[in-house]
Amino acid sequence: MQCPLAVKQEESMNIHEYQAKEVLRDYGVTTQPGHVFETIESFETYARKEIRDRVVIKAQVHAGGRGLAGGVKLASTADEAIDIAKALFGKQLVTHQTDHTGLPIHKLYLEPACEIEREFYLSMLVDRKTATIVLVASREGGMSIEAVAAETPDAIAKLQIQPSLGIRPHHVRQVMQCFQLPTDQFQAMTALLNSLLACFMAKDVSLLELNPLVLTKDEQLVALDAKISFDDNALFRHREIKAFRDIAQEDAKEVEAGDDGLSYVSLDGEIGCLVNGAGLAMATMDAIHFAGGKPANFLDVGGSADAHHVKKALDIILRDSQVKGVLINIFGGIMQCDTIAEGLLRVLPTIERDLPFVVRLEGTNVERGRKMLEESPFDIHTANSLDEGAEKMIALTQ
Ligand code: GDP
Ligand code: MN
Repeated sequence: MQCPLAVKQEESMNIHEYQAKEVLRDYGVTTQPGHVFETIESFETYARKEIRDRVVIKAQVHAGGRGLAGGVKLASTADEAIDIAKALFGKQLVTHQTDHTGLPIHKLYLEPACEIEREFYLSMLVDRKTATIVLVASREGGMSIEAVAAETPDAIAKLQIQPSLGIRPHHVRQVMQCFQLPTDQFQAMTALLNSLLACFMAKDVSLLELNPLVLTKDEQLVALDAKISFDDNALFRHREIKAFRDIAQEDAKEVEAGDDGLSYVSLDGEIGCLVNGAGLAMATMDAIHFAGGKPANFLDVGGSADAHHVKKALDIILRDSQVKGVLINIFGGIMQCDTIAEGLLRVLPTIERDLPFVVRLEGTNVERGRKMLEESPFDIHTANSLDEGAEKMIALTQ
């Protein structure tokens, strides 16, 4: 079974758990009544006044695995909760889903602790291949679905929902069977699945995940954790979702690039790539891999590779200290190659790092453009093909 979670979530916007629960409550999903805090002072005031019973304090970051990383803690008294909050606020939380620097904890969510009987996993995601919504259920909640898929695949049920038909009784029965729930939960499960699907459809969700969904001691189905990712391309029609954006949780360089109309994704290799067009970016990354290197990023300057965009792109690429060289692969279609060369020659003197540049130009006025680069005083190497460019780059950086 190919796990559907392997589907790339690149083109989607993530929100915090407390925001996801806010959205889900509107659709009738049961959650704990929680409060979010952005300062230790407001947390303390609230805690002293309201905490009587066990509570759970949850770091709000755009990553799972918080529990194992110390970002989800139980407390029995206000003092205990305040101590936990003090230790968490302002910290970077590193989980198995973040990189080694982790994500900043600027918000804490406080909920009454839940008396858990059993924990389950339930998610919905778009399956492009079958044009359906795939529902994934697992009776091993609280664990990563990838781990369950590898170790106890029998604990997982995977069902397809036709968007035009919605939740059918057989879907409910299969989920109940997977969870080994008694039949008196049938109505509650039907209501839950319908709520989740309604939310999924109305908000253009790409992934909705409850891990865990719990059965409480008093037999309620409660979403104890919630993750929702939204399709970027549909955000224009969901202003309320866009407002949930928390830039502090995003890669600063990716945000800055986005503001200038560049698409930048940081990767972990050592060769910076500056390319115009997403397809060309993919081909460039492949060529680097084939030549034995690793790309440091994916940067698409878009249709207009003008001096301003090239400058901005190089600034962003070179801020990554892992980058040992830059491969520029530009197709001069509307923008002519000599104009691109001119832009590059204007930008290069402003660059402070001393690195090799390999430029592969193709398109209108390519001869003129290449000549301009070759005659320049900078450490620029030109290439006649993408493969040659990648090979030259690897040779120069090894
Ligand atoms: P994640 O680690 O980022 O996925 O964070 P979760 O919100 O899923 O919390 C991790 C784990 O903490 C859950 O799987 C539960 O086992 C536990 N947990 C969270 N909230 C409560 C609660 O209210 N009561 C109890 N007993 N455990 C909780
Ligand atoms: Mn979780």
